[in-house]
Amino acid sequence: SYACCGLRGSAAQTAFSTENAVWVAEQLSLFVPSGTHFQIKLTLIFLSFFLSFFQIDFWLGPAKSSLPVDMRVPFHSLQAVKIFLESNSIPYTIMIDDLQELLDEEKEAMMQSRKLERSTSTFRFSSYHTIDEIYGWMDTFVAEHPDLVSKIQIGQSYENQPIYVLKFSTGGANHPAIWIDTGIHSREWITQATGVWTANKIASEYGNDASVTAILDTVDIFFEIVTNPDGFAYTHSTNRMWRKTRSPNAGSSCIGVDPNRNWDAGFGGRGASSNPCAETYHGPFPHSESEVKSIVDFILSHGNMKAALSIHSYSQMLMYPFGYKTEPAPDHQELDDLAREAVTALAALHGTKYTYGSTIDTIYQADGTTIDWTYLNGVKYSYTFELRDTGRYGFLLPESQIIPTAEETWPALVKIMEHVRDHLY
Ligand SMILES: [Zn+2]
Repeated sequence: SYACCGLRGSAAQTAFSTENAVWVAEQLSLFVPSGTHFQIKLTLIFLSFFLSFFQIDFWLGPAKSSLPVDMRVPFHSLQAVKIFLESNSIPYTIMIDDLQELLDEEKEAMMQSRKLERSTSTFRFSSYHTIDEIYGWMDTFVAEHPDLVSKIQIGQSYENQPIYVLKFSTGGANHPAIWIDTGIHSREWITQATGVWTANKIASEYGNDASVTAILDTVDIFFEIVTNPDGFAYTHSTNRMWRKTRSPNAGSSCIGVDPNRNWDAGFGGRGASSNPCAETYHGPFPHSESEVKSIVDFILSHGNMKAALSIHSYSQMLMYPFGYKTEPAPDHQELDDLAREAVTALAALHGTKYTYGSTIDTIYQADGTTIDWTYLNGVKYSYTFELRDTGRYGFLLPESQIIPTAEETWPALVKIMEHVRDHLY
């Protein structure tokens, strides 16, 4: 039941706009499991109206009953929300007392890091960066590894920013390949930072580490680090909590589509929202977002993609298809075994524990997601990572955790890439 789930309120004063954090009844009731008691359904529907009115932003929406619900509450709604939760006997804890404090610290840390980078002319992997800084780094990186790495533009964003993919290849025509993307949800900053570190790691291990060398001698790697360029730029300029794309929606003042509900795999089902104001809005039609369509076209025209690893935060989970239906994927057992190996390797470094399983079993029904689409289009090894943490900092993971997060994720990625290398099909 709902009251059992340990509702956590990340209640805090916020200095940025919550223009899109509007939730309607439909949004929340969509997540109600079919067997749910009528009374609880009614409570949820009421709650969702309530949440909409008070501009609540879900960080972790209503999911499995064993998982908490995390939400960001604007200051002006704080008292009312507390009273509501208490009067309905819904237990909650404060995750982050003052979100603004974390935002200020994050900004200050970035400024300090930028100074250091300028004075030493070196890119600091331990810091968060803007899109311009990451794109600048890419050019340096490609120039440093001309025999291994190249940069491909696969499309452009709604706001006409180029969409780049780093290609790691030792040559040969149309090698089997592994796709990796980070940052499709722009506010998940740990993912783009992990992406930069990981891309660098791949290049530095080639020729040094026997396993990575053998991977790259067999397969190419395509790595998209800033997968939602407009959203990412917006998280730096205007609203740190922005998740979606930045395309306008006809007939609505709300902006953006959830690019991880926009794929043609169970598109428009109940694990997505039809409300343009919702954070999980699926968009007007499949692949309506150029950020999604660019990847679709690229993967289809490549024709030899064997793995797709789509990296998100937060929750510490490793998931495989399906998200849009409960039916097990035909490769369920192999995907599950490999997931277990990967999370075991991940935990070995810093003890970070991941759960794993199909998306629908592990977190919630999610329709129109990247990895369901890749899987349905012949990419067997399709996985979603949800990186650190489990809610202590949520999307505002301190930069001191960038390197540890990237470091621990690496052995999990290597496990999967080795398996792909050794089980080409
Ligand atoms: Zn995400």
